[in-house]
Amino acid sequence: MDFETLIRDVPDFPRPGILFKDITPLLGHGAGFAAAIRHMAEPWRAAGIEVVAGIEARGFILGAALARELGAGFVPIRKPGKLPGRTLGADYALEYGSDRLEVHADAVASGTRVLLVDDVLATGGTLAASRRLVEGVGADLAGAMVLIELAALRGRERWSDTVPLRALLRY
Ligand code: 5GP
Repeated sequence: MDFETLIRDVPDFPRPGILFKDITPLLGHGAGFAAAIRHMAEPWRAAGIEVVAGIEARGFILGAALARELGAGFVPIRKPGKLPGRTLGADYALEYGSDRLEVHADAVASGTRVLLVDDVLATGGTLAASRRLVEGVGADLAGAMVLIELAALRGRERWSDTVPLRALLRY
């Protein structure tokens, strides 16, 4: 299944000059979605992943599917004010703008093996902030998996090599 063809380039979204990778055609294609999730799971099958932490919003879709594929639980990393319990927060710079993410302070037991998941690695701010959150609540971070790495934006440089960061597709 050539799922790469199911990712659509949208010029000037959400702002002029940005070429947005739209994954909705992939999500809407049963065989393509299944193949992408299987390939994203592959490197982590023997990594003892207990919980997948997915980043709002597209990281929820991929992360929840990946959690089921790996037999793991799912923890949401959310935009501010969405989680009802006590939270830990992290502020970060986006490719376009700035934002904050939060996780429930009691989301995982100390030492839980966690895999971080998002759709796209761009400048790396989102993933770096999420890493601070999962490590901040005591997880043992096994690594991070993204569907797409936009290599020219050099987000990988904001991620230390001590923890693996993998991408299924690189542009
Ligand atoms: P970063 O913090 O790495 O600059 O941006 C990554 C975040 O922005 C991800 O959560 C991702 O969903 C979103 N993002 C940035 N660029 C794109 C893009 O081209 N396509 C999609 N689908 N998401 C993007």
